[in-house]
Amino acid sequence: MKDKPISSYRISEYAKKFASYSKYHSIDIHENNIEQMTVHTSKGKEADYVVVFDMNKGGFPSEKSTNPLLELLLPKSEPYKHAEERRLFYVALTRARHHVYLITDASKPSPFVVEVIDNGYPILTDEFHGERFQYKIASNCPICKTGFLKPIDGKHGSFFGCSNYPVCRHTENACERCGSGLETNGKFRVCENPRCDFKEPICPKCNGTLHLTKNRNFWGCSNYRKDSEFYCSYTTKFIDLRQ
Ligand SMILES: [Zn+2]
Ligand SMILES: [Zn+2]
Ligand SMILES: [Zn+2]
Repeated sequence: MKDKPISSYRISEYAKKFASYSKYHSIDIHENNIEQMTVHTSKGKEADYVVVFDMNKGGFPSEKSTNPLLELLLPKSEPYKHAEERRLFYVALTRARHHVYLITDASKPSPFVVEVIDNGYPILTDEFHGERFQYKIASNCPICKTGFLKPIDGKHGSFFGCSNYPVCRHTENACERCGSGLETNGKFRVCENPRCDFKEPICPKCNGTLHLTKNRNFWGCSNYRKDSEFYCSYTTKFIDLRQ
């Protein structure tokens, strides 16, 4: 008996959005039993896997639906923002028998995606490698509270910088190995990515990072820069990395 082929849907709020994803059309959607449709037309249908495109800020829900005039005209009984599009999002989420994938730009995720993460729904953000900064999605910049942290590839490696730069100059270190965010745990900053075990020792004097020097005989602070306005000369001979 022949196995039933796996069925998949690619859905988007608006059909025209598919055009902007044409550069990803490296797979033959007919060959692979993938159907493409809008959320509206997916109503009542089911597939094994569903991929929802454009889960970005201003994409889904579209900014248009927040038109204040329209909001005024809508019945007051709608307790949630974007009530109509929320229903559509629910439709999209419930089309899949096994898995639903939400495609989002992590630097400007849809508020629906942020809600799903914030409310602790059973989602995976690390199914694929190269997660880089998915763990940052749901949080705003801790300093200005309105920006979000985005990955920046600088001269001295990758780090996270606030999207409100130059108004807000907050930065955070990124994992040297996988580029994910780091969180402070005792004397170390450890990678937030559960697949990665990178950790770096924190300078007790200035909160910088301690690196082993080239000839590996002591640890020095990352803020040791000669001729700099601010520099830290902290060094230590030994750090127990098992802590
Ligand atoms: Zn900021
Ligand atoms: Zn890492
Ligand atoms: Zn230091």
